[in-house]
Amino acid sequence: MKRLSSLYHFLAYTLIVCFVLFSSCADAERKSHQEKVERPEFVFLVHGGAGVFHPDQLPEGREQEYLDAVEEALSIGEEILSSGGSAMDAVEKAIIFLEDQPFLNAGKGSVFTAEGTNELDASIMDGKTMNAGAVGGVTTVKNPITAARKVMEQSPHVFMVGAGAEQFAASVGCEIVDPSHFYTQERFDALMRVQEANPSPEDNRGTVGAVALDRYGNLAAGTSTGGMTNKRFGRVGDSPIIGAGTYADNNGCAVSCTGHGEFFIRYTVAHDLNAKLKYQVTTLETAANEIIHHKLKEAGGSGGLIAVDKDGNYTMPFNTNGMIRGVVTPEYREVAVY
Ligand code: ASP
Repeated sequence: MKRLSSLYHFLAYTLIVCFVLFSSCADAERKSHQEKVERPEFVFLVHGGAGVFHPDQLPEGREQEYLDAVEEALSIGEEILSSGGSAMDAVEKAIIFLEDQPFLNAGKGSVFTAEGTNELDASIMDGKTMNAGAVGGVTTVKNPITAARKVMEQSPHVFMVGAGAEQFAASVGCEIVDPSHFYTQERFDALMRVQEANPSPEDNRGTVGAVALDRYGNLAAGTSTGGMTNKRFGRVGDSPIIGAGTYADNNGCAVSCTGHGEFFIRYTVAHDLNAKLKYQVTTLETAANEIIHHKLKEAGGSGGLIAVDKDGNYTMPFNTNGMIRGVVTPEYREVAVY
């Protein structure tokens, strides 16, 4: 009798152990399935600069031009990402398009230095490999973002500036143009206004950027700019500085910033966001808001950022009255200025 009862106990115990094991396996399976389902196939964001936007002070039709440019840049990234292309390609190709728009402060249409020249900065980072490339103060490279990618892929360096960067860009096949290619009357007039101490609030707005999460879970970020109107020649802002204006890390997020570069450099904004996400219990949105709306704003730094994390969460905070921006996923699309 006693033997029978221990047999029952043994059987009951075995059943309970099997049940617990089975349900935790099923739970793990469900969770990993959910993760796969929850992370969108791709997420792509672009910006065309943060700043002060007064609808009545913009040239006629300008707001629509901003929105159309963002739509087109999103479509470029969307096409690449939805057909299985890489986050790096989506970021570079969309930024090339934005650099070619004369009304955005990057590539053609860049703002002028105090000496009446255009000095362009750009950077790109691959979150999969943690490789990065950047160029600063270039005056003849039509698409600085491509030169930045070439620095990453075809040189042992991360950051090249001035004549050396231009010579390198030419040697690896980047399109070289006469500096006059970057001239636009509108930007020159802005320089004149600033130098006559009569600036319009819009005169300093600009920079373009993109961040992407591709279907393989890889993140990438890129930023390109003409900098700030009336900057001293030789001044470099945050945009080409890895960790300040641009950062991407597959274990954290991809970030592209825009705004008063000196503040973004001092507060290493892009890396700070990634670090907060990796080392603190917080969400991308909370961390980005804390940096843009508190840390930076309280220090006197104006601007914004776009970011996407490894799970496909994204955010686009800014502490100015506008930021030209947009996002696309397989299910959602949005473009906005204010
Ligand atoms: N961050 C850029 C710079 O300081 C300018 C901008 O984004 O408006 O060069």
